[in-house]
Amino acid sequence: MSREYEVVIGLEVHVELNTKTKIFCGCSTEFGGAPNTHVCPVCSGMPGSLPVLNREVVNKAISVGLATNCEITRNSKFDRKNYFYPDNPQNYQISQLYYPICRNGHVTISVQGKTKDVRIHEIHMEEDAGKLIHDPVTDDTYVDFNRSGVPLIEIVSEPDMRSADEVIAYLEKLRETIQYLDASDCKLNEGSMRADVNISIREMGSEEFGTRTESKNLNSFKAIRRCIEGEVKRQKDIIEGGGKVVQETRRWDDDKGTSSPMRSKEDAQDYRYFPDPDLVPIMVSDEWIEEIKASQPEFKDEKKVRYKEMYGLSDYDIDQITGSRRLGEIFEGAVAEGADPKKVANWLMVETQRLMKETNTDADKLKFSAKNLAKLVMLVDSKEINNALAKEVFEKAVFSDDIDPAKYVADNNLSIKGDSGELEAVVEKAFDANPKAVEDILNGKGKAAGAIVGFVMKEMRGKCDPAEVNRLIIEKIESMKE
Ligand code: ADP
Ligand code: ZN
Ligand code: MG
Repeated sequence: MSREYEVVIGLEVHVELNTKTKIFCGCSTEFGGAPNTHVCPVCSGMPGSLPVLNREVVNKAISVGLATNCEITRNSKFDRKNYFYPDNPQNYQISQLYYPICRNGHVTISVQGKTKDVRIHEIHMEEDAGKLIHDPVTDDTYVDFNRSGVPLIEIVSEPDMRSADEVIAYLEKLRETIQYLDASDCKLNEGSMRADVNISIREMGSEEFGTRTESKNLNSFKAIRRCIEGEVKRQKDIIEGGGKVVQETRRWDDDKGTSSPMRSKEDAQDYRYFPDPDLVPIMVSDEWIEEIKASQPEFKDEKKVRYKEMYGLSDYDIDQITGSRRLGEIFEGAVAEGADPKKVANWLMVETQRLMKETNTDADKLKFSAKNLAKLVMLVDSKEINNALAKEVFEKAVFSDDIDPAKYVADNNLSIKGDSGELEAVVEKAFDANPKAVEDILNGKGKAAGAIVGFVMKEMRGKCDPAEVNRLIIEKIESMKE
């Protein structure tokens, strides 16, 4: 007898905000500095130092809240979450328990054509901890406080998700929204977005939730999916074996595909939360909210509707080019310069994506201008260069250095225009050099023309229009038949 279960999932998502300085001091948030170079008395927890809230952190937290349909808390404040751990120099983390900055929101996700709202319980602000580095050779442990005090928001969902697909869709939606807001780069693999996944199961039709576990250490969508599958199976096995799921935090090991308990679930009271006496309450005025609202960008969903009306591209193309704000910006700019929308979209979807992968460049770091991409499209349209050359020009001039492609073509003498005399002479030469191919063509073997085309392209070093070459070959063959 096998019972049917429903999976219930709620997420706690930490996002590192990309402010220039930390949440309570002026230290840089930059990633990758030498250990303990971005530290001061505040973020290294020196007694007597005092925190001062970075206004930009509140701006970004509110902007994420507005974009996820939250209510903004007008009187918000910070609390101390007390615990000892060597990466936490104050022995408490400044967080928000009682009055989080945002509450009661939702995001709409779409899975296999079905849309649904995932409710957001709250978004609160807090500081990140430092990092412990273990030396496997000496077995020593070092601490680096560069990350200590980097601003985080924690987005807590209600237990509204019912499958791994819904979880991924929810995370993608959050990531897309937060990237559009330029509040974080949201990289799971680099830890600027971290998802803790709360999972329980219950018998189909049951009203009551089952006991949940919380899984940590998930740094890719793939790991999240595998972890959910693994945990659901583990819980099923326990229940079917007559046991009880224990509420605890578990660490997922994606290499082994297994999980192990980290600690039993702690309660809020274990942390002895109390209001932080060093920080004043945050009063959020109507004007402040209006100011942030006014600076919100057009989000992906709205952009998609507008692109569909304005450019008549396919849904797939639109989805791709609105994947980041920067791509959309380049697309619209290039079209405004007069380039054909479909051709611009193709450059952004094919060559741009290929080079982004190859050079490990994020879309928001693309530095080429809409103007130069538009020029490139128009150079091909006017047959100044062919497609093969255009790819080279795009890579070497536009993508890498944002150089004017017309200038690059001129400087490198790449234009294939106005060379028809030269081209005819080369076709002539190709016929002389390939008598067998010519004979085959005359005998109806059209494929043999490939040898002639190849010869011409090689002689011209690719600097010619293949359609023009074909036209000249056909013309010549026809004249030979007469
Ligand atoms: P705590 O107060 O112990 O931190 P919360 O009620 O705040 O617990 O929930 C923490 C996270 O766990 C939230 O994202 C919530 O949606 C999720 N969650 C709560 N109960 C369940 C459950 N039974 N199954 C799955 N997820 C749950
Ligand atoms: Zn500092
Ligand atoms: Mg909670």
